[in-house]
Amino acid sequence: MTDASRLASSAYSQALELIASVEPRIAEATRQELVDQRASLKLIASENYASPAVLMTMGTWFSDKYAEGTVGHRFYAGCQNVDTVEALAAEHARELFGAEHAYVQPHSGIDANLVAFWSILAHRVEGPWLERAEKKNVSELTEEDWEALRKELGNQRLLGMSLDAGGHLTHGFRPNISGKMFHQQQYGTDPTTGLLDYDAVAAKAREFKPLVLVAGYSAYPRRVNFAKMREIADEVGATLMVDMAHFAGLVAGKVFTGDEDPVPHAHVVTTTTHKSLRGPRGGMVLATAEYAPSVDRGCPMVLGGPLSHVMAAKAVALAEARQDSFRGYAQQVADNAKSLAEGFLTRGADLVTGGTDNHLVLLDVSSFGLTGRQAESALLDAGVVTNRNSVPNDPNGAWYTSGIRLGTPALTTRGFGHDEFDRVAELIVDVLRNTEAGTTKAGGPSKASYALGDGVADRVKAASAEMLDKHPLYPGLELS
Ligand SMILES: *Cc1c(COP(=O)(O)O)cnc(C)c1O
Repeated sequence: MTDASRLASSAYSQALELIASVEPRIAEATRQELVDQRASLKLIASENYASPAVLMTMGTWFSDKYAEGTVGHRFYAGCQNVDTVEALAAEHARELFGAEHAYVQPHSGIDANLVAFWSILAHRVEGPWLERAEKKNVSELTEEDWEALRKELGNQRLLGMSLDAGGHLTHGFRPNISGKMFHQQQYGTDPTTGLLDYDAVAAKAREFKPLVLVAGYSAYPRRVNFAKMREIADEVGATLMVDMAHFAGLVAGKVFTGDEDPVPHAHVVTTTTHKSLRGPRGGMVLATAEYAPSVDRGCPMVLGGPLSHVMAAKAVALAEARQDSFRGYAQQVADNAKSLAEGFLTRGADLVTGGTDNHLVLLDVSSFGLTGRQAESALLDAGVVTNRNSVPNDPNGAWYTSGIRLGTPALTTRGFGHDEFDRVAELIVDVLRNTEAGTTKAGGPSKASYALGDGVADRVKAASAEMLDKHPLYPGLELS
């Protein structure tokens, strides 16, 4: 047992004992969550396993401190230690990503995007507007000024990737506030190749003239050329915002470099910290110096008091990501996605875009005669945790879908390599081949009900357990 696992074992055992003395059912659920996570084949592309050091950093008295404001400029007294934490997290982020500015307060990816949207609006609209109104800052504005500014701040245009091409709901999707605060249009992917068509994005941008061009995705299995996206943004006078929530780990680990690294090309980059970056659940905004002052107004613009305990954990996770070993991890994430994709292709399964060059694979399950919903449920019965996802122009819509999204970050953290991911593809194909779509009460085809063949779940679970046992989650961590 390593020192780290010995410390984690005793710390968690004692913490659970303490929790149990107040509410034993929460201690029990927490124990059970570890048992369940250890026993499942986690292929959800947005999930990972943070280190015990990162997790434990979140469980401290920093949670009790209010610290609205920014480093050295707080609206509360006694923030000297929070200042240390926030400054360190931001410094690690700037160094890791080569960014001019980092804002580590956002509580989640959605919050990071809200901060980004409002800071872009403030920078692009409010600034020039103040000049025209001949006012130095917002505190000088009258009620009439505000009324006019509200009219001008709203009704701006945003162009983002459509949800069914792999974009995120915060990129202008109607039910999300981004689709309400902006006039929005979407770009998709090429209908034959499934790939981003930069000429089509440029044509749309020229016609629509967005204030904000959003690049980034949650379910697109390919790399994006951010230099080209910046050219498009520059040509139409848009701000380029890249949401790297999913692939921040591949940027941090230098798998995406040059044109594929968003940081040198975008004005503003947003991310989560808990996906491929393997940190605590949270968000972050990176920006050029030009956008930094408006990004720093995230609180009180759209955020309340920062989660100081989570900012501390971000600092620890970013310090981990700056270690050489993280580059090996990130490269393995991408290599494993290739192994998984090849495993599917050699067994005759269909992949959107025909493969992957990032951390995820989008499996089109229609050739198995299933919807994404049926495939997701059957796989879960066999202990394989995935999520259903639309494919481009999905005939089954966003609820039932025709796809399954699979990602490699989590199992790569456990130590899975090429052979294991090939076997994972084999097990998934085994389940899908042996799942029958059900019928509705009226006798028509059902998009939800299904029947998994006898014995399939047991044999897949046994095969998974063998691999999972070989690559334990938190090796050496034993709860007493
Ligand atoms: C996951 C994700 C988000 C949202 O992150 P939350 O922390 O769940 O709010 C935003 N954008 C993209 C591209 C994502 O993949």
